[in-house]
Amino acid sequence: MKPFKPEKYTDFSKPANRKLMEKTLAKVASEFGKEYSIIIGGERVKLAKKFHSYNPSKKGEIVATFQKADEATAEKAMGVALKTFESWRYTPAKVRAGYLFKVAEIMRKRRHELSACMIYETGKNWLEADADVAEAIDFCDYYAREALRYDKGAKLIQYPGERDTQTYIPLGVCLVIPPWNFPLAILAGMTTAAFVAGNTVILKPSSDSPFIGAKFMEIVEQAQVPVGVVNFMPGPGALAGDYLVRHPKTRLIAFTGSKSVGLHIVELAGKTQPGQLWIKRVIAEMGGKDAIIVDSEADIDSAVYGARVSAFGYQGQKCSACSRLILDDRIYDKFMAKFIPTVEAIKVGPVKHYENYMGPVINESAYHSMLEYIEIGKKEGRLVCGGEPAEGDGWFIRPTVFGDVDSKARIFQEEIFGPILAVSRARDYDHAIELVNDTEYGLTGAVYTKNSRKIEKAKREFFVGNLYINRKCTGALVGVHPFGGFNMSGTDSKAGGPDYLMLFTQAKAIAEYIGPKKKAAKKPAPKAKKRRKK
Ligand code: NAD
Repeated sequence: MKPFKPEKYTDFSKPANRKLMEKTLAKVASEFGKEYSIIIGGERVKLAKKFHSYNPSKKGEIVATFQKADEATAEKAMGVALKTFESWRYTPAKVRAGYLFKVAEIMRKRRHELSACMIYETGKNWLEADADVAEAIDFCDYYAREALRYDKGAKLIQYPGERDTQTYIPLGVCLVIPPWNFPLAILAGMTTAAFVAGNTVILKPSSDSPFIGAKFMEIVEQAQVPVGVVNFMPGPGALAGDYLVRHPKTRLIAFTGSKSVGLHIVELAGKTQPGQLWIKRVIAEMGGKDAIIVDSEADIDSAVYGARVSAFGYQGQKCSACSRLILDDRIYDKFMAKFIPTVEAIKVGPVKHYENYMGPVINESAYHSMLEYIEIGKKEGRLVCGGEPAEGDGWFIRPTVFGDVDSKARIFQEEIFGPILAVSRARDYDHAIELVNDTEYGLTGAVYTKNSRKIEKAKREFFVGNLYINRKCTGALVGVHPFGGFNMSGTDSKAGGPDYLMLFTQAKAIAEYIGPKKKAAKKPAPKAKKRRKK
């Protein structure tokens, strides 16, 4: 088997690729309004209560319709997942990994279709959507190889008279709860990691991105993953989610989302229910308030580029997005003079058009939350650019920058999750490090400096799970930048890294007595060859 290599991105500068994407966008739009079922053990379930998913680039445009799972549906899903676990847990790792390679292959073939779904349902621009599909493919290819590696077990010291082994066995039913902002990559990553390790899955996609979830489920079925291994159950987090988090038969929960929901899940899962046999495991990857330092000894042009991409790529709706920019006082004015025109030049609009770099925020409630934070920002800092909705029929907000923000300000401390950037002055590099660490989060961060002593200090003291030096703080690659944060950013699971699959397993150590090693019978000494007489 070839070693893992990250998937290449589509080159949209080529007219042929652009044409194909445009054709696919038209095709996906022609299918808007379809109704999708809940899928439990292969059975299609329809319910009286439904909900829609919308196109945030065009207010009110329905993308697709879904069933609102309730407690009875959740119970049904649990029953099937539990039953399926009894056979799936003993399916050889090679077979399980084979399904992941198949899923990856189908995603490659349906790549533009998946991107188009994300462009419509979650407002990703073409490049961001394409990168999301690439990451989903990478997760499958990487975790399949990882499952084969874990299947070999751990290397132990062999005690005399024993055969000593440690194997990694699955845990049980895994509840997968992904966010909408990496609607394919994170959903596929958590789901495939869970089932390739031998667990069965109840997948509850975000209510803002169930369409992409349904497409993933189609691919799982196309790859002929046995029915019941993955059960697709869209529905309200607070109802179906809470019920399953509390359920005594839930063995583990793989969650990625906000701090508030993450902590709620941790708390709920921590309460032992009657009949519960285990301590539930919770993998919770949560928010961030990520910072970039631009030092007095930085390459300013490269920092301007990195800050712009990190703050406004996908409208600042990445957990890794830069939302705090810490500038050394000595370069503050020079940096801002170059940075602000590049921010003002960002094109905002419906992302089905390739030329729009920024699309809408995810929904109406996020839009109003942005406007509220802009008002707060106006009181806490100096509005430098943006600060208003952008024209158009979607939930568009102009990229917004506030200057001279104090570290105690709300816009410096709270995760806003949109295109709003707080810029602060640091007296010197030590002060800059103090400022970046003045947060309850600890997900990503970047430092721009040419000074190697300062780089070493950042490596030691900048307290984040993913630190980047002289580059943007977004865009982690599977196998290259294992991803996860400290403190209130989560459990630091390091998705896409060599330790991740272990979280979906439990280790079983076996010592088998085989008796003393038999001494090998002594071979008779070789007879001396007779010399031939010449
Ligand atoms: P969210 O917390 O609102 O929702 C996440 C998921 O939880 C959704 O599927 C939602 O339906 C579900 N949910 C809601 N209430 C629930 C409940 N009571 N019980 C069970 N499930 C429930 O987050 P979001 O808005 O979808 O995503 C954005 C957030 O995710 C941001 O805070 C972002 O930083 C974070 N995020 C973190 C990472 C990371 O790796 N650390 C990656 C992506 C996103």
